[in-house]
Amino acid sequence: MSFINNWLRSDIQAINAYHVPPSENMVKLDAMESPFPLAEDLIGQYLAYLADADLNRYPNPNALELQQSLRELMNIPDAFGVLLGNGSDELIQLLALACEAGDTILSVEPSFVMYDMISKFTHLNYQGVDLTDEFEIDLPVMLSAIATHQPKLIFIAYPNNPTGNSFDRATIEKIITSTTAMVVLDEAYYAYADDSFLADIAKYPNLVLLRTISKLVLQACV
Ligand SMILES: *Cc1c(COP(=O)(O)O)cnc(C)c1O
Repeated sequence: MSFINNWLRSDIQAINAYHVPPSENMVKLDAMESPFPLAEDLIGQYLAYLADADLNRYPNPNALELQQSLRELMNIPDAFGVLLGNGSDELIQLLALACEAGDTILSVEPSFVMYDMISKFTHLNYQGVDLTDEFEIDLPVMLSAIATHQPKLIFIAYPNNPTGNSFDRATIEKIITSTTAMVVLDEAYYAYADDSFLADIAKYPNLVLLRTISKLVLQACV
């Protein structure tokens, strides 16, 4: 047995590596990246910005300028706090790290695989609640799973990945008001949806909204 096999946590060794199939000579869309390169003038602006950056210094930890731009672009009201992460995967991990040992993270199945994986990485329990055959949340089943497992965190992707649908809004509201858990609505695909819970954050003290710019097609913004 190699040193690393001996040394590494066995539950991590048991996880299958995320397999990315090769995509030579194809239009690569499977990772939800933009298939378009950055526009010429944006590349110029980007390089000019980099040329001016203090690369010998740590970046400003609050990234206030970036926060301000995001607040304007996404119409985030001033009253709400913004926590920036290195991708929302990092924020999912930070929320998990804020839990106590023995806590449970609950989500629906199928949904974004990182809720389950990050629960494992951080030694938390993970509970998946099956969606119906139409990929909807079965509210009584969900509420009973919440009552049984008393989760500390509930992740709901809105719209859901990989099923592509948005769950019923009233169902989500019932979940938020019926639990003491922090409910995290992951709006990674907000730009492709008609609805959002951004305007509802003030109503629910246990509601957190996650967004990312990874899934935006930059070309569409210019
Ligand atoms: C892609 C994706 C994320 C992670 O996005 P990053 O910001 O790139 O880490 C989170 N949640 C869902 C539902 C996603 O599809």
